[in-house]
Amino acid sequence: MPALIEAERIEAAYGPSQALFGVSLTVAEGEAVALMGRNGMGKTTTVRTLCRLLPLKAGRVVFAGTDLGPLPPHRAARLGIGLVPEGRRCFAPLTVAENLTAAARPGPWDLARVTRLFPRLGERMRQRAATLSGGEQQMLAIGRALMTNPRLLILDEATEGLAPVVRREIWAAIAEVKRSSMAILLIDKALAEVVAVADRAVMLDRGASVWEGPATAVPGDVAGRYLGV
Ligand code: ATP
Repeated sequence: MPALIEAERIEAAYGPSQALFGVSLTVAEGEAVALMGRNGMGKTTTVRTLCRLLPLKAGRVVFAGTDLGPLPPHRAARLGIGLVPEGRRCFAPLTVAENLTAAARPGPWDLARVTRLFPRLGERMRQRAATLSGGEQQMLAIGRALMTNPRLLILDEATEGLAPVVRREIWAAIAEVKRSSMAILLIDKALAEVVAVADRAVMLDRGASVWEGPATAVPGDVAGRYLGV
């Protein structure tokens, strides 16, 4: 299947300090790929670079046949990249309904479908995002990205810091989104949860992609070396 997004040996830096030294990855239509690695290895920097939030120092990113290199972030988003950033940022003063509809674009994901996916959001439509629990805010951040009807959904540590029961709820929702044939790039460190959803895994080590293969067949030595498990 042709790649929906293809990153080839991308490099990126924060001012003088280089953070990515050659990350390559692809996600095909309908595929879920996990970007994995220990803290500080460059996972968030990779997705920020893919979304054009950080300049590309070297390498290439092609999304749906378009070279993203010269495009500003809002153009990348319009082409169909939906990012759920680390730290589940919602618009705190806005209500759940306002958060969901603010950036909505036409497509199969609408309010009805998002609230079927996350019934808790449906019960809290008029509540301000600031008053939601951490797990509900994460659901809202995912719902808001889905409402833009992206072709690729990128989830950066979607269950970080949440209680086990809420983590399970969010993983189940991610699995359902995957079944809808949406392409997904997910960042996570928890191999056990990732394997239930992801088709492939890409390991990062010190700003470079160092291993890729089926998520269900990550060799023990690879998991030990790059994830510390
Ligand atoms: P984590 O799992 O902890 O979120 P990560 O794999 O996502 O880690 P990044 O956040 O991409 O890692 O960080 C990669 C490198 O870039 C690290 O060395 C980090 O210190 C550095 N870095 C990240 N953000 C910035 C920033 N805003 N300014 C300068 N350096 C940064």
